[in-house]
Amino acid sequence: MSHVIHRSLAQVPLVAVGGKGVELFDQAGKAYLDASGGAAVSCLGHAHPDVLAAMHRQLDQLAYAHTSFFTTEVQEALADHLVTHAPAGMTDVYFVSGGSEAVEAALKMARQYFVEIGQPERTHFVARRQSYHGNTLGALAVGGNEWRRKQFAPILMDVGRVAPAYEYRDRLDGESQPAYVARLLAEIDTKFQELGPDKVIAFVAEPVVGATLGAVAAPAGYWQGLRALCDRYGILLIADEVMCGMGRTGSLHAVEQEGISPDLMTIAKGLGGGYQPIGAVLAQRKMVEAMRRGSGMFQHGHTYIGHAMAAAAALAVQQVIQRDQLLPQVLARGAYLQKQLHARFDAHPHVGDIRGRGLFWGVELVQDRSSKATFDPAFKLHAKVKAQAMAHGLLCYPMGGTIDGLHGDHVLLAPPFISSEAELDQVVERLGDAIDTVLA
Ligand code: PMP
Repeated sequence: MSHVIHRSLAQVPLVAVGGKGVELFDQAGKAYLDASGGAAVSCLGHAHPDVLAAMHRQLDQLAYAHTSFFTTEVQEALADHLVTHAPAGMTDVYFVSGGSEAVEAALKMARQYFVEIGQPERTHFVARRQSYHGNTLGALAVGGNEWRRKQFAPILMDVGRVAPAYEYRDRLDGESQPAYVARLLAEIDTKFQELGPDKVIAFVAEPVVGATLGAVAAPAGYWQGLRALCDRYGILLIADEVMCGMGRTGSLHAVEQEGISPDLMTIAKGLGGGYQPIGAVLAQRKMVEAMRRGSGMFQHGHTYIGHAMAAAAALAVQQVIQRDQLLPQVLARGAYLQKQLHARFDAHPHVGDIRGRGLFWGVELVQDRSSKATFDPAFKLHAKVKAQAMAHGLLCYPMGGTIDGLHGDHVLLAPPFISSEAELDQVVERLGDAIDTVLA
């Protein structure tokens, strides 16, 4: 057993010492099934031999060159791969080092676009409640998680706020799905009118909401309606696919399943699969053309953008996904996981909802199924489920604050794309045992 002196601001004392496939190992030799892939990061699991080989090759050649002097072959190859598989019209890629940086860059690119085309009066963003877009100041400002925001609220920019598309809780009794979607879109329209539609830069949202709600996709027609509404006023649409993107929901990008193309899209987690920190912004041609015609470039930058090792890891991850046809596998294994979750939890008195797409699933825990009443936040159900799951050898992603940052709990599952059916059986079994132990 290794002895680790705790000098970092680490949140927990447990030490991870290794990983292989869908398992992680701690210093005591205990194995954990990594059913959340960290936080929807480890799409190929741990120590994938092809990714490691590509990283070793890149390390021998070149780890880093500053982007003000050079681009690299590997950065360009990754950009080419992403553009080739991007939603319609998205022709350019800007690399960063993670999700929050991707959101910051997207917000700034959207603002710069309007300055370049002579609409500098556009200064507002609109985003949704119960959302998370990162922890840097701009990303935190567009995020609508009150618990995360509260200490920093006085120093955050003002953002127009509307309801999330959270059908399980927010669709009214007797309200049809189209009527619900129309109501959500009408609220967004009203918010645009309130701010002045020609003063709004962009609407920001996650196509499938991960951390804050637990794998909640919007009802049919929402994204198409949103796209049309933004187009009506020339407002940009930013899809934050940091968590739900890069194959997690069964298509490379979640927006593909909505039949729309955003103006800007952020990706991160599954892009590099955890092998290196990396994120990116994909942009429509019109945005990049406006910047080239205007000030000549995107007025932004970080020291590590386009990092060669990060690009090599991400390119290898994406090539494995393509070569091994893992997207259809995500759909097939996702359907299997869905079936197993329903078999285990449909009759469970404290499971209110099971929702998701691909290998991205949320299980919402309630005190009472018929009233959807939540557990008392003081009970800290999510923290207990996390601890019990770990005791049962399972890493999942339970979160509190599903409803208002305080009330409501869910467990998010985002297992690696390479998970076998037997491993998914284990995930469901251990999760069920953990929940039952906590609520016994
Ligand atoms: N956007 C979304 C949708 C996320 O889920 C996250 C991270 N959970 C972020 C942005 C921020 O990414 P990072 O933690 O890499 O900064």
